[in-house]
Amino acid sequence: MGTQKYVIALDQGTTSSRAVLIDRAGRMVDCVQRPFQQIFPQPGWVEHNPQEILFSQLGCLTELIARHGLSAEDIDSIGIDNQRETTIVWDPATGQPVMNAIVWQCRRTAGLVDELCGDPQVKAMVQAKTGLLPDAYFSASKISWILDNVDGARERADAGELLFGTVDTWLVWVLTGGLVHATDPTNASRTMLFNIHEGRWDDELLRLFGIPASMMPEVRPSSGFFGETSYPGLPAGIPITGVAGDQQAALFGQCCFAPGQAKNTYGTGCFMLLHTGHEARASSHNLVTTVAASAPEAAAGGLEYALEGSVFVAGALIQWLRDELGIIGSAAETEALATSIPDAGGVYIVPAFTGLGAPWWEPDARGAIFGLTRGAGRAQIARAALEALAYQVSDLAAAMAEDAGGELGVLNVDGGASANNFLMQFQANLLGCELRRPQNLETTSLGAAYLAGLATRFWSRTDELRGLRDGDDVFRREKDSAWADEHLAGWHDAVRRTIG
Ligand code: ADP
Repeated sequence: MGTQKYVIALDQGTTSSRAVLIDRAGRMVDCVQRPFQQIFPQPGWVEHNPQEILFSQLGCLTELIARHGLSAEDIDSIGIDNQRETTIVWDPATGQPVMNAIVWQCRRTAGLVDELCGDPQVKAMVQAKTGLLPDAYFSASKISWILDNVDGARERADAGELLFGTVDTWLVWVLTGGLVHATDPTNASRTMLFNIHEGRWDDELLRLFGIPASMMPEVRPSSGFFGETSYPGLPAGIPITGVAGDQQAALFGQCCFAPGQAKNTYGTGCFMLLHTGHEARASSHNLVTTVAASAPEAAAGGLEYALEGSVFVAGALIQWLRDELGIIGSAAETEALATSIPDAGGVYIVPAFTGLGAPWWEPDARGAIFGLTRGAGRAQIARAALEALAYQVSDLAAAMAEDAGGELGVLNVDGGASANNFLMQFQANLLGCELRRPQNLETTSLGAAYLAGLATRFWSRTDELRGLRDGDDVFRREKDSAWADEHLAGWHDAVRRTIG
């Protein structure tokens, strides 16, 4: 055992940056969080200031270090997990970004993607190589947009004077004093420029989007050496040895290291990932195929993959009950309301505020409430809202099981709404599999820390990490499958009427 006591996870999210101190037992010892500004230059456009991302992240890190009086000797390594797809282009000579970061949510390049990928053959080619359905969400079109719209950017990029990075790459570059321009395969797989089967940037895709290869970072294993800290005001020489996109980091932090293991995060939306091992499974249900973060012991066998699907509106529906309808005071209240009645009284809410995602894929659908009677009140609405979260996740799980060719045995859960025991039990009743909720719900930071600490042998192997996890809350099916079929039939009827 070395003398180092901690791994630090830098959790760079969409609305805030956090630095998390994690000890050898995998416990979160402390956490510092700083929000930063969301910039909306036009409807549907979203930007972040890369310097503000950086300073919020560094601020958290230095505060955490100061609070615990840490020196470089106390810190084994740093792991980074980050909001994915968000795109930064900068000039390495000055360290200045050429414009704000274009955030994953930003829709400004939707027309450009239609133009470049509208041809069915091109769409199929992109999907076959990247595992993604062409969309403005991913980085490729955002880079194109920057090169087309920032004065002189295209010429400078062609001359090799500009670098591209997702947020992980930007942070690594700055933290290493501009020495290292690198990303990991999980982040690379969200750019729509990375051939996930060959594990490298794809020339045909770079040409399609007009992006010079010289801008692209080197792709290194998620758990391995990226560089050492070399930044004024920070202890020098701390190795950065873990990098992954937030959802893949959460999958890793949930100890889903092997094929068939899955997690679902119940946040504002939901993100479900199912590990498929060294096999990239293509989806026939509008799910995406993405790269999973690998432990060093697995990376030797080549890249590992996951199927990924999302629910657009999950916890956001609960926020809507609170903020728009005003029928609850807090999200947590929904649990007591839901359990105050035996069932939702035939009420179904289809929260298609922004269309329906996988497996339905109806971007133009809008939300609806069905089955209202004179007896329907706050409790029925609150319960139907929680049930709607579970139904959407069930549909996603069913699609995933079909794509992966096997039912889920266990679903690991996290995210704010996973605290709701009614929701978890209802979900277990629908899915029929076991739900496991870890004591430490900070699975994203934990995943980044695990990746970093495995690379340095702070932790020896994934077996050791599994052993750190105990005291899970477990939810098992308490109803039979006929009950589940009947409830799902009612839900599917409501979905069909919503789409119709
Ligand atoms: P994100 O990271 O996406 O911002 P979180 O994981 O912090 O979200 O989860 C917050 C979401 O979970 C909110 O949308 C909130 O409405 C919902 N939520 C939080 N607690 C509960 C609860 N006890 N029951 C139901 N929903 C909840």
